[in-house]
Amino acid sequence: MDYQAVLAEVWDAVRPVLGQGRVATYIPALAAVDPRRFGMALATVEGDVYGIGDWREPFSIQSISKVFTLALALSRDGDALWRRVGKEPSGNPFNSLVQLEYEQGIPRNPFINAGALVITDRLQRLTGDSRGTLRDFLRAESGNPLVDFDPVIAASEAEHGHRNRALAHFMASYGNMESAVPEVLEHYFWQCSLAMSCADLAKACGFLARHGQRADGSRLLTRSQAKQVNAVMLTCGTYDAAGEFAYRVGLPGKSGVGGGIIAVIPNRCGLCVWSPGLDARGNSVAGVEALDRFTTLTGLSIF
Ligand code: GLN
Repeated sequence: MDYQAVLAEVWDAVRPVLGQGRVATYIPALAAVDPRRFGMALATVEGDVYGIGDWREPFSIQSISKVFTLALALSRDGDALWRRVGKEPSGNPFNSLVQLEYEQGIPRNPFINAGALVITDRLQRLTGDSRGTLRDFLRAESGNPLVDFDPVIAASEAEHGHRNRALAHFMASYGNMESAVPEVLEHYFWQCSLAMSCADLAKACGFLARHGQRADGSRLLTRSQAKQVNAVMLTCGTYDAAGEFAYRVGLPGKSGVGGGIIAVIPNRCGLCVWSPGLDARGNSVAGVEALDRFTTLTGLSIF
């Protein structure tokens, strides 16, 4: 398949929606980005990389980081991890508090903020350095030693992160936080601040297309665990829009409020698209449109 030609066609098709949606403003440092930016990259399991637009431009990965912390924690903790967090779609916004009380402090899934905070807490306990473990993993998988945190974004979120603070303390009241809440929040804000390009992320999610095998041929996840992470991405990766994302795109995917979305085609490739204009559920408008066009044009989806 001529992926470069397909990406060019996708880019043409999404031009009318570029600039639609609104950039995230609840983290003030994210509000400065131009909503019309657009990039997309595809990295095959064989190691070829294709891209269009701003595909080499680093952006704030935000909640896309939750896929990698989940995979890193699951690889070390195995099924015990699921005692701390569920795997059901929430049907609620990513930063919602409402279900936590009914669920006795156990978040519905690892991709809403509450669940991601639990995973960060667990990864910190399992590794002693969740941030460093995550950054080193992403550098290795993307092949880019310059992948790093953005301290301005991390500080901006820390200053305005009242909801995440509320979520973490609420879970702590149910005994579902092992470390001190401020420490967990700090690790979480830093993980969300990582700056990566579409090329970096398309390569970095390759282990999910290779059924758990890392770029160097070693194994992070068992085949079954890679299936589990992909399944949770499909059902929970775009929050209360996961049904529509599965319907339109038909791939496991994970969005972030920086405007990025990664998607996985098992056996074939990792994809990443970036455009900062978000819809009401916090997913990139042009990003979802581009992935929809991509799977429609190519016929490639998991269905
Ligand atoms: N850091 C953001 C937050 O916690 C991540 C949210 C997102 O990307 N959906 O609010």
